[in-house]
Amino acid sequence: MDTMRAVRVDVCGAAEQMSIKEVPLPQPRAGEVRIRLKACGINLIDTYHRTGLYPLALPTGLGCEGAGVVDALGEGVDDLSEGERVGFAMAMGAYAEAIVLPRAALVKIPASVTDEEAAAMLVKAMTVDFLFNDTFSLSGGETVLFHAAAGGVGLIACQWAKHKGVKLIGTASTPAKCDLAMSHGAEACLLIDDPELSDKLRACAPDGFPVVYDSVGRSTYRLSLGLVAPLGTFVSFGNASGPIDAVVPGELALSGSLYFTRPTLATHMARPGWMQASADRIFGLMEAGHLAVEVNQRYPLSDVVRAHKDLEGRRTTGSSVLIP
Ligand code: NDP
Repeated sequence: MDTMRAVRVDVCGAAEQMSIKEVPLPQPRAGEVRIRLKACGINLIDTYHRTGLYPLALPTGLGCEGAGVVDALGEGVDDLSEGERVGFAMAMGAYAEAIVLPRAALVKIPASVTDEEAAAMLVKAMTVDFLFNDTFSLSGGETVLFHAAAGGVGLIACQWAKHKGVKLIGTASTPAKCDLAMSHGAEACLLIDDPELSDKLRACAPDGFPVVYDSVGRSTYRLSLGLVAPLGTFVSFGNASGPIDAVVPGELALSGSLYFTRPTLATHMARPGWMQASADRIFGLMEAGHLAVEVNQRYPLSDVVRAHKDLEGRRTTGSSVLIP
């Protein structure tokens, strides 16, 4: 076969802008590997790429997480062989039957982890890893606020917090999502549209939260800002409801000398050795039974439009995958 099916975006916009095209099967050059994809992770970031919130050169492929089997090796790649299972995070073009990537972008998948699990969790768990271990290093005993606790990143955060001895107070949009977050280790989970949400969250952390992890953005910014403890950290790491308009230094001062940070997984991936070390931590936690990935939505590649609509429509929980 010298062609493959892949999702393409020619013009940014609504989910319908994605189409499946028959494109040439990419060939690996020196130092590169071709992977026959078994599963492609779906992330909210993919919708930011599709709409142009995070601009990409057009036309573009989409999807930044996946797993599959090595089926061609470029010159000089001598520590992988055809048939080996590998996964990747933050590498563009995953919504496809195959992808070519530099060897350095790949991690080997242990036998105890399925392709689907790897595709459903590498981006999300690496995100929780840097949020909890780098951005604000949690040592155990803290009570933290984490919005969208029943989502892909959220359910992993609930489990990882529990494992660290951290009380994660989540928010979510439905009682069923709140129950799911708590069954994954959240200490409590409150409805995001509860009129008494602010008071209830304050009761969970009377002196304020030492850290608030906010991936919802525009609609939760004010609420979150008011809940950070003096000298605490506001971690803004996503835009589910739209980007925050402006951060005013004076407001950080008035709220108690707060730290504000906007970290990205890409920055951490660029740190030498970090990606492999993070994958080792994640696979280790999975093998020890502390972390499991919940794949609650599976779609054939041809259903990519529906997959994005479900994610943007807040109809998903846990992780979603496309099966090429
Ligand atoms: P999720 O599965 O968490 O889906 C997003 C969730 O956000 C929804 O399910 C919904 O949960 C909540 N939400 C709140 N308001 C809205 C809204 N207006 N529209 C849509 N959703 C809304 O997605 P992911 O696990 O893929 O990602 C979670 C977040 O983490 C995203 O914001 C993403 O951008 C961010 N992220 C950041 C990274 C970084 O490097 N900084 C890396 C990876 C992810 P509910 O219905 O319960 O409110």
